[in-house]
Amino acid sequence: MTWSFATARVPATFAAAIDEQANIEHAAGDGQTLCGLDLARMEIYRHLFGGRSTPNCPDCAAAVAAAPTEPSYQERLHDRVLAAEPSRLRDDLLAALRGGAELRLGINGPAAGITRHYAQLDRLAEGRETLAAALSTATRVIINEVVDGGGDFVVVQADGAPPVLGRRSA
Ligand SMILES: [Zn+2]
Repeated sequence: MTWSFATARVPATFAAAIDEQANIEHAAGDGQTLCGLDLARMEIYRHLFGGRSTPNCPDCAAAVAAAPTEPSYQERLHDRVLAAEPSRLRDDLLAALRGGAELRLGINGPAAGITRHYAQLDRLAEGRETLAAALSTATRVIINEVVDGGGDFVVVQADGAPPVLGRRSA
């Protein structure tokens, strides 16, 4: 099967909400478990529903199985990159994501730390000044790196701003 956004969709995941008294694990939705119980009396865990040996609530399990799938990370990044200023670099990146290019990096953090540890501005063949400017004016950013044989793509996005793009040397 050819890789596409449609074939690459992933199952929805839910945090585990454990009712300690009843020793039963529910799937956490928005304010409620998927079976309709108030989350206020539950312990919410970092692991995902179904990931532990605690007995699972059958109603939540059925709701999880029936939940719509979610877009792959390629599709989610593609949709964010659509907001970037049109350029050949943007078109190349969108095409790579539509073809299933792997993400090497996806970090949301303080711009200063991202600049120091991940941006590697000196390894950029394109977009160095644009990325440096975005990193120096933002407090928090998301940085993504997309693997490509012609030089990996780098995407930096500050809160509420369109993403800016760069490309590493091949
Ligand atoms: Zn439940």
